[in-house]
Amino acid sequence: MKRAGVIGYPLTHSTSPAIFQAAFDAAGIDAGYEAWPTETEQLEGRINALRGDEMLGANVTIPHKEAVVPLLDRLDPQAELVGAVNTIVHDSGDLIGYNTDVAGFGRALREDAGFDAKGKHVVVLGAGGAARAVALSLIESRAATILLTGRTPRRLTAVVNDLRGQTSAGVTLSWAYWLDGSFLVSLPKADLVVNCTPVGTLGGDAADESILDTDYIPADGTVFDLVYNPAETPLLKAAKEKGAKAVSGLGMLVYQAAESFRLWTGQDADTEKMLTAGREALAGAS
Ligand code: NAP
Repeated sequence: MKRAGVIGYPLTHSTSPAIFQAAFDAAGIDAGYEAWPTETEQLEGRINALRGDEMLGANVTIPHKEAVVPLLDRLDPQAELVGAVNTIVHDSGDLIGYNTDVAGFGRALREDAGFDAKGKHVVVLGAGGAARAVALSLIESRAATILLTGRTPRRLTAVVNDLRGQTSAGVTLSWAYWLDGSFLVSLPKADLVVNCTPVGTLGGDAADESILDTDYIPADGTVFDLVYNPAETPLLKAAKEKGAKAVSGLGMLVYQAAESFRLWTGQDADTEKMLTAGREALAGAS
C-alpha cells in the first residue's frame, strides 16, 4: 500500500485525510492518507521519512509551508515564486516541492465564482503564503490591478517585490497599509475582494469577526473568502447582505488537493466525491 499524509501542527480539525482518502478510493488506488502532526523540531525527520519506497509524498500546512523549503531537493518554479510549498512529491528518493494553491485558487475562481479576472480590479487582504499564491494566480490571469493590503508593511513589500517581475503590460501589482486611505477608497470599486487572512475561522481568535465592515464591501462585486470553516464566514454573510456574490474557500481546498493528487498519481481526481467528503468532515468537526 502506498502512503501519503499531511504535515502541520496542530492537525486536530484537518479535513485533508477525508478528502484525499475519498479521492484514492474513488480511483481504486491502494493508498492510505494519514494526519502527521509535526512540531518544528520534528520536521526534518518527518520530511526525510518521505524518501521511503512506499511514500507518494505529503501535503504541508501551517506552520511549515516555508520551513520545508530548504529540506527539499528542488522546487517547482511556481513554488519558488510563492516561496512556500503545500505539496511534496516523492520521485525515486528525491523530494520536489510544489504550490498547488495557485492552480486551486484559479480553478475555484473560474468554476465556483464564474469570474474571469482578466482586466479586473482586485483587492487581496493579507500578505502570507496564501496571499502570494492568490496574487500569482491573478497575475497569470492578467487582472488589471491587484492591490494587496495588510497590517505588516514589511511582508506586503516583500510580496510585491518578489512577484512584480511576473507582471506584464496592463497588470499592476501594488500594496497599501491596512489603515491607508487609498485602500479604503479602492475597496468599494473593486470587482473582486479576496480574504487571505484567517479572520473568521471557526475556533480561531477572530472567529466571529468579518475582516471587512459591510460599508466597504462592493455591492456589485465578488467576495472570495479562503477560509472554508465555517461554510458561511462572517465576511461572506456580510457580502450576501450587501448584495455581493459570496464564494467559500471549500472549492479551492478541494481543487488544490486535486492538483496534489494529480502530481502523485498522474490521474484526475473525483472532485465531487472530495467535496462531499470535505463537507462531511467539516460538519463532523463543527
Ligand atoms: P499566513 O502565512 O500565516 O498569513 C496570514 C496573513 O493574515 C498574514 O498577512 C497576517 O498578517 C494576516 N492576519 C492574521 N491575522 C490577522 C488579523 N487578525 N487581522 C488582519 N490580518 C491578519 O497564513 P496563510 O497560509 O497565508 O493562510 C491564510 C488563510 O488562508 C488561513 O486561514 C488558511 O487556512 C487559508 N487558506 C485556505 C486555502 C484553501 O484552499 N481554501 C488555502 C490556503 C490557505 P501579518 O502579516 O501582519 O501577520
